[in-house]
Amino acid sequence: MGRDRRIDLHTHSFFSDGVLLPSEQVRRVAVKGYAAIAITDHADGSNLASLLEKLLRFRSTQSEDWEVLFIPGVELTHVAPRSIARLARQAKELGAGLVVVHGETIVEPVAPGTNAAAVACPDVDILAHPGLISVDEARVAAANGVYLEITSRGGHSLTNGHVARVARQAGASLVVNTDTHSPGDMIDQETARLVAAGAGLDPAEVLAATVDCPWALVERAMGRLGARPSQQ
Ligand SMILES: [Zn+2]
Ligand SMILES: [Zn+2]
Repeated sequence: MGRDRRIDLHTHSFFSDGVLLPSEQVRRVAVKGYAAIAITDHADGSNLASLLEKLLRFRSTQSEDWEVLFIPGVELTHVAPRSIARLARQAKELGAGLVVVHGETIVEPVAPGTNAAAVACPDVDILAHPGLISVDEARVAAANGVYLEITSRGGHSLTNGHVARVARQAGASLVVNTDTHSPGDMIDQETARLVAAGAGLDPAEVLAATVDCPWALVERAMGRLGARPSQQ
């Protein structure tokens, strides 16, 4: 199998609106042969600290239990654009391995300016489902090391083709995630490749979005987490 194994960097546990406890989420993806999973529950200023405390405690007490890399993260969701950089920084200071921002899908009332604020912030790792993101915003994302997401999630995936085209034009990096909320949302690596190809990516771009870019983000996250003294 080598490096070509599933990595999902955008999932939810029941600490927000997912249905699974972290232990079950990680167990299920381990059985599916995943290499790594991030749990990135919905966060704003009300729950950022308590959420990361729980996910970091899960990691420090149980990360040896499964042969899958576990990354504690957050998804800043419906946070006003002006507060995104501050909360993203705070998430990193609290020990988050990854910071995802819930982008401007075309199916939700996400505040205009959310994509622009996220790509401008080097503390943001992934701009999830960025809807009708502009080429200029994608260029800023590329400059700041913010990855853009191709998603398998219904509704959010309506703009995958646009995101793929804009990312190619801007030289921005892509990752395929699921935004899993329940076990049925988890996909295997072959399905991830099909989602990437369906977005219009060529074979080299599919490989980047499903293998190389996810691994680069895992390495970035593990570097951060490894540098921290273990919790509790
Ligand atoms: Zn959700
Ligand atoms: Zn999400």
